[in-house]
Formats: sequence, structure tokens, C-alpha cells
Amino acid sequence: MKKPFVTLEQVKEIEKTIPTPFHIYDEAGIRQKARDLNRAFSWNKGFKEYFAVKATPNPYLLSILKEEGCGVDCSSLTELMMSEACGFSGSDIMFSSNVTPEADMKKAFELGAFINLDDFTHLEFLENLCGLPETVFCRYNPGGHFTLDNQIMDHPGDAKYGMTKAQITEAFKIMKAKGVKYFGIHAFLASNTVTNDYYPSLARTLFTLAVELHEETGADIRYINLSGGVGVAYKPDQQENDIFAIGEGVRQAFEEVLVPAGMGNISIFTELGRFMLAPHGHLVAKVLHQKHIYKEYVGLDACAANLMRPAMYGSYHHITVLGKENAPCDHVYDVTGGLCENNDKFAIDRALPEIEIGDYVVIHDTGAHGFSMGYNYNGKLRSAEVLLKEDGSAQLIRRAETPADYFATFDFSPYFKK
Ligand SMILES: *Cc1c(COP(=O)(O)O)cnc(C)c1O
Repeated sequence: MKKPFVTLEQVKEIEKTIPTPFHIYDEAGIRQKARDLNRAFSWNKGFKEYFAVKATPNPYLLSILKEEGCGVDCSSLTELMMSEACGFSGSDIMFSSNVTPEADMKKAFELGAFINLDDFTHLEFLENLCGLPETVFCRYNPGGHFTLDNQIMDHPGDAKYGMTKAQITEAFKIMKAKGVKYFGIHAFLASNTVTNDYYPSLARTLFTLAVELHEETGADIRYINLSGGVGVAYKPDQQENDIFAIGEGVRQAFEEVLVPAGMGNISIFTELGRFMLAPHGHLVAKVLHQKHIYKEYVGLDACAANLMRPAMYGSYHHITVLGKENAPCDHVYDVTGGLCENNDKFAIDRALPEIEIGDYVVIHDTGAHGFSMGYNYNGKLRSAEVLLKEDGSAQLIRRAETPADYFATFDFSPYFKK
């Protein structure tokens, strides 16, 4: 059973000052998640989680993660700027970008971030633009498909990211000759994995690669970045990942592959986004309308512009009707937003308690890749974000957009001049 971290009473209280829809985040859950992760990898001296900013770019949340010892993983200029505003700098920042504009690369270099090169040609690009830093990471793509227990998890061979092994070997040789001192390896080979085996398997692949690269190039490899991809149980019948089992699996691979090769000083990095925050965010919405045609429809004040995943990927997000947590799910509804697009459905044929206009619903697991994928189609405005603090109080951490925000990019024109 999935239980919301807010109650109907709390939502009614919040709604007095912050109208629905809004995204709400659970501070206690976020802190606990970060502490569990850090404990699961405490066997590795240099371990650090670099939270993937794209998942939930909010300075209040980034600051909570910073207090818990996390860094940030950025891939754009504005993500770097937000991280800088939160006080992240130098080795607190990974810059794992692709198709990188000059301005973004320059900013990452100026901040002293760890730069993770997505392509062989980016070596020359970086060198010409900024010079080469003391430490450089390369992103690895093994091609083919990524399997666990003979099951295909994802298709790196079709992914635009990373370099071949031959390219990384060449890049390490060139960089070493040009004075780069330390090296890192990074790979992201499968997304939203709900299994404790993904990281250990990826780690073994990267550890083996590190040993081979060290032998072939003499490069001093100090960092291995397992990136993102550890998933969450969006569906109530899925078994959640156990981060302690995952940490232990990575430790075993470390002991078996790196330690015998004399490379036991390597620091493990992660760039988790979804795993850190998805379960600790809800999209809270109110039922505006109901209609009865060929199917039963429940229309919310939130729409796909507030949460794109169901429309884009057909993703399942669990829904709880607040105040009816224990009522029987004896009605079947399509739960929709108000976009003029028929894929604007949060749920299709979902068994739920009987819903009335004015009910509040919680859409679960929206704390990562939720608000951040929002958009303004149909002139819909982005919602507020709220932090449910450890003491139970609610804090506005991003106000909702207003029509003035929507029209702000016409501020040069006579149509919307003040
Ligand atoms: C998106 C992304 C992540 C985070 O992925 P999750 O699935 O949210 O864990 C980490 N690193 C890079 C480079 C990414 O693009």
C-alpha cells in the first residue's frame, strides 16, 4: 500500500494560502534517504552523491541535500547557476553534459567542477575553450544492450551518450601526455531500474574497464561515477530497491576487481535523481469536474503540464483520494487534466474510491522528473512547490507562475508593456 505523506487536514490548511495544484516535498523523507545512501556506501572513503539537478531543480531542496553531504550533477548553464547560488563549488559539482554549448562548459570550468566529457571531440573543445583541468572524467558507452540475468534492461548501443572504449583509451593517453593528473570514468546504462543488481553489475563493468584502462594508459584513475538509474517502485506491487543491498553489492565488486589491482583508493560517485526524491514528492490537485460519457472521467486542476510522465511515457503514478484512503476502490475512472490533448491523463481505467467534485487527490512519486519536466502548453502555468518541513509546517519554496510570468518574454513588445 502506498500512503501519502500528507493528510487531508494538512492539505486543506496549506490550500488556505497556496491554492492547488502544487508539488509538495517531504523534508524528513529526503534527509533519511540521503543518510541511508551515505551509510550504504560508507565503506568507500571518498563516496559522494551528486544529486541530478534536472530531476528537481529547486534551491531549497538542493540546500537540504547539501546539508546531508551531497553535491550536484549539472548539465546546463542554469543548473550550474542554481548550484552556485546554493553555495556548491569545485568538487561539489559534476558537470555531466552532452552537446555542450561553450558558455556552459566555461561556467563549469570557472566553478572548478569535475568535467565529464561525453565525447572524444569534447577533449579538444574543452582544451581550446578553457585548457585542461587537473582531473577529467570520460563517459563510457559499451554499445549493445545492457542485460541483467539475461534480461535486457536498456540499449546503450542506441543511446547518444558516451564514448567507446577505444576512444576513452585514446583520450586518456592524450590527456595524460598533456598533463592531466587524475581521471574518472562515468556511465549511465539503464534507467529506473527496480532491482538491487543494476549498480553492482554496472560497477563490475566499470571497475574492470578501469583496471584495463590503467594497464593500457597508465592513467591515475581516482573516481568511478555510477551515475543515475536506480529506480523507484511507482507501482504498489513493486518491490522497492534496498540501498543497503546495493551498496554491499558494489562493495563486493570493488573488493574483487579493484582492490587486487591495487586500485582500492578509488572514490565511488553516484548521480541519483529519481531514487533520492521521487517518492518524497506528491502532486496535489483538486477535482474540478466529472463527466459521464462512454467512460467515467474525473478532471483535475492539474494537467500534464505539471507532470508529463504519464503523457510522455505512459508511466504509472499511484493516486490516493485524500480522506478516502481506506474506502473501497469500487469505481473506475480516467483521471485527466485540462489540456486540449487526449494524452493528458494521469490514469486510465483506474480503480479508485467514489470521487466527488472538490475532492483532493495526491499523485504519488512526483518528487523527481515531475515539476521539472513541466511546460506551458495551452498557456497552462507552472504550479507552486511546497516543502513539508520536519516540524510539520509547510513552506512555499517556489511560487506559482502568474500570467505576468507567462507574458514576460514579450516585455519588449507593445502588446504586454506595463
Ligand atoms: C538524468 C541523469 C541522472 C539522474 O537519473 P535518475 O534516473 O534520476 O537517477 C544522472 N546523471 C545523468 C548524466 C543524467 O542525465
